Amino acid sequence: MANIAIDGPAGAGKSTIAKMVAKELGFVYVDTGAMYRAIALSCIRSGIDVKDEENVVKECENAKVTIKYINGSQKIFLDDEDVTSTIRNEEVGNGASAVSVYGRVRSRLVKMQQELAANTDVVMDGRDIGTVVLPNATLKVFLTASVEERAKRRVNEMAEKGVTVDLEQTKAEIAMRDERDTTRKESPLKQADDAILLDSTSMTIDEVKNSIINLYKKAIA
Ligand code: C5P
Repeated sequence: MANIAIDGPAGAGKSTIAKMVAKELGFVYVDTGAMYRAIALSCIRSGIDVKDEENVVKECENAKVTIKYINGSQKIFLDDEDVTSTIRNEEVGNGASAVSVYGRVRSRLVKMQQELAANTDVVMDGRDIGTVVLPNATLKVFLTASVEERAKRRVNEMAEKGVTVDLEQTKAEIAMRDERDTTRKESPLKQADDAILLDSTSMTIDEVKNSIINLYKKAIA
């Protein structure tokens, strides 16, 4: 199977780019962050404090998280409810960052991710894809951008959905999430030794997409 791993911090454009690359190559896009978000949502709904490791792990073991592809796009289900849109807010994002520090949560989700990649050509995005989930990926990209630029993109993205969020607060949240994701003990966010660094701060979406397609073509040549 061929696969492309795209890792990087929150708001670097991973999912937008990964979706475009997958479409162009005819691969399946796998959004691993959605899985951590689904576990976080499950905890929030059950009133479990994300700092309570034992109960978070129990919730993760009992939660039924499934991924389905409908008309080519990933849908995520929690106990048979489609939560694809419900998980897309800062509260659930921050919760995901908190529950993802637990090794037992990670190992369950990593196993699901590896099973998906074993059967299909995938473009998978996350934080540990190149380092842990797909160590033998055909191509590994570490996609980043400045905190300022990532916060601006997040604010614009929310504005398109009709939601107004504060730039300074978004910047602070992104910085906090980066800090937690890069310093955690279990699978911290880090560039794999054999990953290619792409800084998208002053690149257009198409430029980033084309760079990745070219890198992939080189990798299989
Ligand atoms: O990518 P997204 O913002 O949806 O991810 C939410 C959180 O889930 C991240 O901040 C990170 O803490 C965690 N995550 C992870 N490993 C992944 C994907 C996401 O730890 N492979």
